[in-house]
Amino acid sequence: MENNQSLIRKQREFFRSGKTKEVSFRMEMLQKLKKAIQENEKEIMNVLKIDLNKSAFDAYSTEIGIVLEEIGFTLKRLRSWIKPKRVKTPITHFGSSSYVYAEPYGVSLIISPWNYPFQLALAPLIGAIAAGNTAIIKPSEYTPETSDFMNRLISKLFPEEFVSVVQGGVETSQSLLAENVDYIFFTGSIPVGTIIMEAASKNLTPVTLELGGKSPCIVHEDANIKLAAKRIAWGKFTNAGQTCIAPDYLYVHENVKTEFLQEFKKGVRHLYGDHPLDNKNYTHIVSEEHFKRLKGFLRDGETFMGGQIDSKNLAIEPTVLTDISWDDSVMQEEIFGPILPVMDYQDLENVIEGIDQHPHPLALYLFTAQKDIQSEVLNNISFGGGCINDTVYHFVSPYLPFGGVKSSGIGSYHGKGSFDTFSHKKSVVKQTNLFDIPFRYPNVKNGLKKI
Ligand code: NAD
Repeated sequence: MENNQSLIRKQREFFRSGKTKEVSFRMEMLQKLKKAIQENEKEIMNVLKIDLNKSAFDAYSTEIGIVLEEIGFTLKRLRSWIKPKRVKTPITHFGSSSYVYAEPYGVSLIISPWNYPFQLALAPLIGAIAAGNTAIIKPSEYTPETSDFMNRLISKLFPEEFVSVVQGGVETSQSLLAENVDYIFFTGSIPVGTIIMEAASKNLTPVTLELGGKSPCIVHEDANIKLAAKRIAWGKFTNAGQTCIAPDYLYVHENVKTEFLQEFKKGVRHLYGDHPLDNKNYTHIVSEEHFKRLKGFLRDGETFMGGQIDSKNLAIEPTVLTDISWDDSVMQEEIFGPILPVMDYQDLENVIEGIDQHPHPLALYLFTAQKDIQSEVLNNISFGGGCINDTVYHFVSPYLPFGGVKSSGIGSYHGKGSFDTFSHKKSVVKQTNLFDIPFRYPNVKNGLKKI
């Protein structure tokens, strides 16, 4: 606790020195981070393999590559983002001009989860540095190799008063939250999100909450079934389903259910072979506790495919459960594993109603070419973000702010969104002294009515 207090004090002093606000400093620090990640690619792949059995391909495409892209995107645009923006001035303010300044908050705290342990700790850091803040990262205790690596990397690159990694579990997280930091960026589960917000409320610290929930996927009867099956299989089973925006469950139109399931099986085999549990590149479940929780869901409905487990390596086959309803245990919470429950439908209205009766999803995926169906879903369901005719891809565009809505999250980031998230927008009117318009002052002499 004392260590945390002293770290935060040092960071606040460093922030007050004004160093982090210099554009050249921000650029230099981001360049340094980029170079170090490039030089350590092998090591990053290695720690992700140990923690989660991530393949080198997945480690690059879903973690390292995303962070490098974000840094590159930011470096190209940062000088323009930083400039105060002149905005219009209404006629009532005649003679003055108006500006919005992007001002860093100060000491930011980034608390991250285990599923993409590298990317989800460092992508917010890019925003924090770009916007001129200092940062403390509290990575997940479930991926100790990756957390340890990030600690070594960051302490070699930056002085602790600028960026520091504090390792530990719930207690460490809570002791950091008890301090008065200037911004909290949290990625994790909904229940912990509420704890974070409560802690932040004590000092009215602004927060971004990147949470989770059950993200639906809808396959309508006119969908391109082959492509839908391939894209859903990829989005669902990458990282063994341990992706916040993975399709959690599937609604498929009853006219195409059989065809879809057959294609889906082919899609999964194409990705992981006939025996995914023997595939050296198939991600494992992060812990015994998560493995047990997921194993319980395998009792629900009918197993259309998969269902096998490897308790020694904490691996679960890509599994599809049919004959599922909202009453099943697998539909009561975010699955966060390689199990896809499937429900069929005749009437899209029932689907919309079903989703609408549950908390706001982080993502939604709809497969149809019909514009009216697309509009119906987009206009009637509130969700964080998503794709039409694809899964997960919206996450990797720096032009799309990424985040949830209500229980799936507050705020967003990526690209300029990250810079904006870590910046306070300070609005300033610059008034002229050449003249003074009298209308705003009460006419004391004649009384207000006569103005
Ligand atoms: P988690 O909420 O259990 O933990 C996240 C972080 O919070 C960890 O660093 C952990 O140490 C800390 N923490 C845990 N309990 C705490 C407590 N009581 N007080 C203070 N800090 C605490 O989440 P997780 O299991 O690591 O990750 C999985 C969840 O994260 C899923 O719900 C998933 O949907 C969500 N997620 C969301 C996104 C997104 O971008 N929206 C991305 C990845 C994961």
